[in-house]
Amino acid sequence: MNVEILEYLLKNENHIEDMAKNAKVDSGASFGIIKLLLANHGDIGVLKGKQIYHYENVIKPLLENVQCEGPMGMMDDDNGNWVSSCVNDGIVDDESLYQSYLEEDFKCQICRHDAEKMR
Ligand SMILES: [Zn+2]
Repeated sequence: MNVEILEYLLKNENHIEDMAKNAKVDSGASFGIIKLLLANHGDIGVLKGKQIYHYENVIKPLLENVQCEGPMGMMDDDNGNWVSSCVNDGIVDDESLYQSYLEEDFKCQICRHDAEKMR
């Protein structure tokens, strides 16, 4: 559990609010769960019932397997699909994720490096 990111999500409410809206749940409850997790050093073992649903559908997608946009951002492929230009595994690694939130720029470590070279 990346506690730094939980703290960030608590202060920057738009991420949770968007996810809660998509999951059709009350974002206020999601924020309550983040506070509970922070008070327990990120231990998801303290969550019960509906709290687990919030965690799985609202909070976890913001912490794990976040899509890397790639060095050139999202692009059309030959079939007209909107895809990431990431040539790696397409997932922002844990180390890069907090930085990605701070910069509002979601890239894995390798794409971040590539994008810097292209500048
Ligand atoms: Zn990438």
